[in-house]
Amino acid sequence: MLVDCHQCRARVDGNIKGTVQRGYDPAEQSEAEGFRVSLLSCPVCDEPILGYQNWAGEKRDWNGDHETVWSPARRVWPSPELMLSASIPAEIQTSLLEAQKCLTVAAYIASVAMTGRALEAIGRHFHMGGKPDKLMLGAGIDELHKNKIIDERLYEWSRALHLNRNLAAHASSEIFGQEDAEDLFNFASAICDYVFVLSDKFHKFKNRREPKVTKD
Ligand SMILES: [Zn+2]
Repeated sequence: MLVDCHQCRARVDGNIKGTVQRGYDPAEQSEAEGFRVSLLSCPVCDEPILGYQNWAGEKRDWNGDHETVWSPARRVWPSPELMLSASIPAEIQTSLLEAQKCLTVAAYIASVAMTGRALEAIGRHFHMGGKPDKLMLGAGIDELHKNKIIDERLYEWSRALHLNRNLAAHASSEIFGQEDAEDLFNFASAICDYVFVLSDKFHKFKNRREPKVTKD
């Protein structure tokens, strides 16, 4: 089963040690959605990996027998692959997922550049007036801060991200290690959680809990 090994930073064909499957009964050939979780060992470094797959349909093999189709395996342990909330706009998700893909294959400079792209997309998302696609990263961060979308601490993280993104995006002798690239990626993910996911939850909470105004 193909899965990304966190240790080897490569896609490997994991050896299956055991599988638990739910919601799909091959005997009944039910169409219900199901999933399966498999314990794998990496054929290169022998580290354990837990893979998760969704039921993706049925097909007939050359013999005419039914065969279950599963989605590509996603690593859920160790270091789970990114699961992004639907509250984060698609264009930002794309950059974050790319940044994480770069991390898994040890392409750290590319990861920092993609993390910066995600931050730039946040600025453009909240930009008021003018053409958002012309908004540069630095101006976008200042605007997020000025409009109180990010607080002092996130502003500081954003500025550090901006500086490092510039070093990664332009030809320079700057080297980014795994730790730096991962930290910058985590800062960008935290900013997204704060401005999209938690803000969204808070508004819903307020709407639920605030006493309804009644007109007398
Ligand atoms: Zn491995």
